[in-house]
Amino acid sequence: MAVGGVIVGGGAPIAVQSMTTTDTRDPSATLEQIRRLADAGCEIVRVAVPGSDALDGLQAICAQSPLPVVADIHFDHRLAIEAARRGAAKLRINPGNIGSMDRVDAVIEAAGEAGIPIRIGVNAGSLAAEYHDRDWPLFEKLAASAVKFCEHFTSRGFEDIVVSAKASSVVPTIEAYRLLSARLPYPLHIGVTEAGTAFTGTIKSSVGIGVLLAEGIGDTLRVSLTAPPEEEVRVAWEVLASLDIRRRGPELISCPTCGRCQVDLVPIAEEVQRRLSTLATPVKVAVMGCVVNGPGEAREADVGVAAGRGTGLLFRRGVPVRKVPESEIVDALFEEIDTLT
Ligand code: SF4
Repeated sequence: MAVGGVIVGGGAPIAVQSMTTTDTRDPSATLEQIRRLADAGCEIVRVAVPGSDALDGLQAICAQSPLPVVADIHFDHRLAIEAARRGAAKLRINPGNIGSMDRVDAVIEAAGEAGIPIRIGVNAGSLAAEYHDRDWPLFEKLAASAVKFCEHFTSRGFEDIVVSAKASSVVPTIEAYRLLSARLPYPLHIGVTEAGTAFTGTIKSSVGIGVLLAEGIGDTLRVSLTAPPEEEVRVAWEVLASLDIRRRGPELISCPTCGRCQVDLVPIAEEVQRRLSTLATPVKVAVMGCVVNGPGEAREADVGVAAGRGTGLLFRRGVPVRKVPESEIVDALFEEIDTLT
């Protein structure tokens, strides 16, 4: 399927999504945030459409956004219909909270006319009615609801769908997606919903999304954090890179340090990370605290440093190039990176 110009599913690269936190009625603030998200590597952006007074803003955003815009709609099917007419590249609805299947049908018709896909997004608060009171584990209810909704969509001749079934806990999320992957042929949007603040949310998302991706499940993803959305995008890329699925920008390898380290490595690694975050080049950089593992790891990287007593031995593509004092390690590393790019 295509979301604007981004292909999702069918073996396409796993697409990174996020969601704006600005007021959709303020297109300039929202577009500014979308541009920052695009710079961070976001590929599809979702925008909340909480009421009819957000539709004009949505239309302006869709017209100017550098990324395909997904209109996120709850409760009111008329908003989804209007969003489809006003340029959304995809609709995200939860059929369980739209009111009735007749209303869902009206949304399906509008998406069909606009030629855009719909994400069927199921969560614990809006299961299909027949599964509410079943004595089943949550993951079964999530998956069964999603399958039920998909069957409804296909019975209406609409198959341009992507499916999500997120829980706020990791294990039911993983279990639900395993079932969906086995039962549905459609692309899956994966993530752990309402995962938490930057620290806990990053861990929950990385574990949940990471397990699924490692099992080959998932076509597009969102890391949900109570944090600026650019952070979601950064975490998403780190997850993809850590599984060698996709890489964007530089990779930093740094050792945890131990009693052998004879420089103050933590601030050095942090400064290198900070400066690398401004680069888009896929360069691999190693910052190692001593000669035990240091030279080996540093040689594997494009550019690396293995620290000694108050010094750093720099490597470029496996070859030792020079020794510098501790205070010059960061600048020297970036001089070496400059020679590669
Ligand atoms: S590279 Fe050296 S300083 Fe770093 S953890 Fe390993 S042994 Fe310790």
